[in-house]
Amino acid sequence: MRPQDILTPVPAGLCCKAGGFHIDPVRPVERALITHGHSDHARAGHGAVLATQETLDIMRLRYGENFAGTAQAIRYGEAIRLGDVAVKFHPAGHVLGSAQIAVSCKDICIVASGDYKDAPDPTCAPFELVPCDVFITEATFGLPVFRHGHAADEVKKLLVSVALFPERAHLVGAYSLGKAQRVIALIREAGYDAPIYLHGAMEKITRYYEAKGVPLGELRAVRGMKKADLAGTITLAPPSATSDIWTRRFPDPVTAFASGWMRVRARARQRGVELPLVISDHADWDGLTATIQATGASEVWVTHGQEDALVHWSRTKGLAARPLDLVGYGDEEENETLPDGEDGPA
Ligand SMILES: [Zn+2]
Ligand SMILES: [Zn+2]
Repeated sequence: MRPQDILTPVPAGLCCKAGGFHIDPVRPVERALITHGHSDHARAGHGAVLATQETLDIMRLRYGENFAGTAQAIRYGEAIRLGDVAVKFHPAGHVLGSAQIAVSCKDICIVASGDYKDAPDPTCAPFELVPCDVFITEATFGLPVFRHGHAADEVKKLLVSVALFPERAHLVGAYSLGKAQRVIALIREAGYDAPIYLHGAMEKITRYYEAKGVPLGELRAVRGMKKADLAGTITLAPPSATSDIWTRRFPDPVTAFASGWMRVRARARQRGVELPLVISDHADWDGLTATIQATGASEVWVTHGQEDALVHWSRTKGLAARPLDLVGYGDEEENETLPDGEDGPA
């Protein structure tokens, strides 16, 4: 059997015929294996879902009890047989509960890494290197210009600005699943212990992180706060909220945005971001290339993002490489579409 007979890209997503499932399907399927809770990977309406407990919980929070016909939890490292293949989930270091999915058939092992990062993150299990024959990698930041640096240094910039402008509010745009909690944890690691305020759309998911044992310090809803009382404070909000009339409730806000795209100054300017923070939950160019080599895979399949440069790089290293051309996955560092009802009272 060839690797492309084990996992095949189809319009619904990556299909494993021999195992009777799809990975992160973008259309409703009978059985879905889900890498993590971001809404373009974890969709509602599948017959059966296999994922980590955290991913299932996050889907339940977003879509309600009936997000799938049936749901089964799998632990990191646990092996489950599905049809003619064995599957195992391993930490992807992307967000809480995120997993790479290793699919083994006979003597071939393919790892579908979903979204991943090799940088440290206090809010989720660290990326685990899984030796394999074929490594499926994302390419969100698959260009050599993307080098994220240390997230802690970016958070220092934020805290310097907060100290410098005590009369202004600081409004930090951050994806509400994963990025927001990581930024809060980094702010705490930097020694800031005042309350941090949350946009309504972030409350549920952030409280869930706390319930899973991620310490985030004192958090308050920004809803109902008086404008003057928000001077000198930090508020986390979904990226879309930071460019909307919602910001009028803050005194002379400094708008920050935590994203790997903030490496590109033009993007920051375009969005009206005063304080760009280069913090990403995706591997940067060095992370992607180092990970590909470390897996020992002789074949690389590259998906959602900037495939060309990574495919080219892999070939120069003597690896077989091709783009996967999967469609339906969003750019989560740039935009966030909040499912109905999640926006809540802000
Ligand atoms: Zn993701
Ligand atoms: Zn993604």
